[in-house]
Amino acid sequence: MTFQDLHLIPSLLKAVEEEGYEAPTAIQAQAIPLVLKRQDVLGSAQTGTGKTAAFAIPILQLLTEDPPHASGRRKISALIVTPTRELAIQIGESFTAYGRHTHIKNTVIFGGVSQNQQTQALKRGVDVLIATPGRLLDLMDQGYISLEDVRYFVLDEADRMLDMGFIHDIKKILARLPRERQSLFFSATMPPNILQLSQQILNRPKKVVVSPVSSTAETIQQYLYLTNRTSKNDLLLHLLENPDLNQVLLFSRTKHGADRIVRKLQKSKIPCAAIHGNKSQHQRQKVLQAFKDGGIRVLVATDIAARGIDIDKLRYVINYDIPNEAETYVHRIGRCGRAGEEGIALSICEPEENAYIRDIEKLIRQKIPVVSDNPFPQTDLPMTEAEKKEFLKEKQRRKQEFFENRNKKRAGRAGGSRGGRRR
Ligand code: AMP
Repeated sequence: MTFQDLHLIPSLLKAVEEEGYEAPTAIQAQAIPLVLKRQDVLGSAQTGTGKTAAFAIPILQLLTEDPPHASGRRKISALIVTPTRELAIQIGESFTAYGRHTHIKNTVIFGGVSQNQQTQALKRGVDVLIATPGRLLDLMDQGYISLEDVRYFVLDEADRMLDMGFIHDIKKILARLPRERQSLFFSATMPPNILQLSQQILNRPKKVVVSPVSSTAETIQQYLYLTNRTSKNDLLLHLLENPDLNQVLLFSRTKHGADRIVRKLQKSKIPCAAIHGNKSQHQRQKVLQAFKDGGIRVLVATDIAARGIDIDKLRYVINYDIPNEAETYVHRIGRCGRAGEEGIALSICEPEENAYIRDIEKLIRQKIPVVSDNPFPQTDLPMTEAEKKEFLKEKQRRKQEFFENRNKKRAGRAGGSRGGRRR
């Protein structure tokens, strides 16, 4: 099955191709035709299965074919409700990516940050709104959002939503939605309370089920290196002494961290590059090509940047840190060992991340073997007196540096403003 077989409009086909997707995933192959036929969908699928595109692509198509803002200002025609800020941002990015050749505009709202930018975007008008429940209700109550024009409603990660105690918020949102609408409901699990909720939302839904992403491919061997934060880099260099690791996708949680790793590897003359959100599309593609061609040995990526990256026959993935979302781990390591090829995933874990490993092991229902042949093992031993002294000295030095810099800045500012007044 190809994306062409799904009868997508050219602007979406083009975007999908630019994302590097070769064929629809199982959930996409099943859900996209149903959504395009204006059916309600009950989808049993987790993050990592491609479910975002399974609802974003057909919604973009329906909105493009039947433009909502033909007359006057844009109104919210599609509402996606998701439990966390991270998911909301990712879904927003997906709508932007898949819809880049359409005229559909989206915005993302979530709590924990100032609402100004979000209300500004809403005032300018959007077609698709992606929201976490609390902020959505908040802005509805303040009169910034009306749901009366919503034609497409997606409830994402319903089980997690209930786990996080959002049931009352969801019910309040439902009460404000038009009755006449198409609804899509996604949940990783379908216990009775979730099914009951789905019945309140969906109208004669079609069921779509895909196998959970938690079943990590059997072809991927996983290993865990327990170490301390300060020895991560040494451990990485030790791992890279093995020439078998000639093409490695290495994950870092942050862009800053990715750049730092690249600098350290470059010092050791290891051909590497980072790929993350601060790099232009052109830079990313160049780096990716060099990685595929063998010019770059270690490609350091953030989770977001790695979305959609598909490297044929990639053997090694290294997790330089352990993701706090277990599904992200499954995503990351799923980049290697594709299509029956052997893959090896090495994870470097500092003491603060041990708890994440337990979550991951619960999700994948297996223990990740700990490598004992590790020259930099995790220590929770108390520091020796000499180490303690060194640590305190370093702390004192940094403190001093901080105050000196601050005083310098203050002196500079004071001098500048006095000069200004004299003129
Ligand atoms: P999701 O389950 O929506 O979070 O998607 C998981 C990952 O799969 C994301 O990195 C997407 O960019 C990627 N993805 C989605 N659909 C496809 C596809 N058809 N082919 C390759 N990658 C995809």
